[in-house]
Amino acid sequence: MNVLVINAGSSSLKYQLLDVDTKEVYAKGNCERIGIEGSFIGHEELGGEKQKLEVALPDHKTAITYVFDILKDINKPIGGIGHRVVQGGWYFPESAVVTDETLAWVREVAPLAPLHNYAEADVIEICREMFPEIGNVIVPDTAFHYNMPERAWRYALPRDVVDTYHIRKYGAHGTSHRFIWRTVHELMGDKTHKLVSCHLGSGASLCAIEDGKCMDTTMGLTPLDGLIMGTRCGTLDPATVFYLNRVGGYSIDDIDTMMNKQSGLLAVSAVSSDSRDIEEGAHNGDANCQMALDMFYYRTAQLFAEMASSMEGVDTMAFTAGIGENSPEMRAGVADRLAWMGVKIDPAKNEIRSDEPRVISTPDSSITVMVVPTNEEYMIALDVVDLLG
Ligand code: AMP
Repeated sequence: MNVLVINAGSSSLKYQLLDVDTKEVYAKGNCERIGIEGSFIGHEELGGEKQKLEVALPDHKTAITYVFDILKDINKPIGGIGHRVVQGGWYFPESAVVTDETLAWVREVAPLAPLHNYAEADVIEICREMFPEIGNVIVPDTAFHYNMPERAWRYALPRDVVDTYHIRKYGAHGTSHRFIWRTVHELMGDKTHKLVSCHLGSGASLCAIEDGKCMDTTMGLTPLDGLIMGTRCGTLDPATVFYLNRVGGYSIDDIDTMMNKQSGLLAVSAVSSDSRDIEEGAHNGDANCQMALDMFYYRTAQLFAEMASSMEGVDTMAFTAGIGENSPEMRAGVADRLAWMGVKIDPAKNEIRSDEPRVISTPDSSITVMVVPTNEEYMIALDVVDLLG
């Protein structure tokens, strides 16, 4: 079955058309700067070159119309559409077929992720209107975390506040963490029961997974919590917000922008949010870049131990996403801070570059350490087949 996977943001729309049976990706691309001057589509087909199509994309409807026009030439009938939804809120313990009701839920929970959910809901609606014969599936990034134990998701705030505003740990990257569990389990079989999945990209989160069930994760009500990220600060004392507001005179919107867009590795390094630039800066003796790396290793190792504690043990650790898949230096930095737990990686295996999942720990390491390239689109497509196939 061919599935079209759509990942809509407020001003972008990523797409991928793939065959779930062969895993072949027929086409993929990104509509960028939707509603902004200078919009274009970056498009790539199986065996072809990347193309840049400079087209006016005043809104998401125009973008989808272009995408379907481009895909028509490929001549691979679409059996279903999977939509990544950032926030499933209190409605989605798993992926769901789009109906009037499930679509309304995506909008109802949108205040928790306003930049994403409204655009995603609009795109789902457009797809339904334009192609009523094709089924649509909602794949929320939070669904995998929905059934974590209450002691993990509940915040120690007044119960009426928690209930009225649906405040809890929702987590994120759930589709990636679910894919990592699936892949690790396929490879390791019974050797893996307690996995910490380390999704380290420009957004980053860890997830404690015991026999396929999420036990805890480092992102919280929103994806701002947890690890230090490219431009996000991660966990800090919540009173920092009141202090900046009352004493610093920053508005709530200023603080939101500061903590989401101007913090993290970017702020500490004062160079870049991109780990490659920071590694290069540190190699050239830049002390701020070195501190950004040290803090990243420190926090990741610290929260790794927190995830292990939530499962009362850990047997496998899997690195994934941009940094986790591509940076031997960042992997070694985190693993070295876990040497006290008996974690040992093989430096030669750590240096190998490959698109295949692989073990990089030594045989005597207390924990099996792996690198597992993530594939959220494939996971979404599998859900589409499960629900529509
Ligand atoms: P993601 O959000 O998963 O796309 O990851 C983006 C992050 O991964 C950025 O901080 C990049 O610096 C990092 N990254 C991507 N590709 C590489 C690479 N080839 N080597 C090192 N880091 C990379």
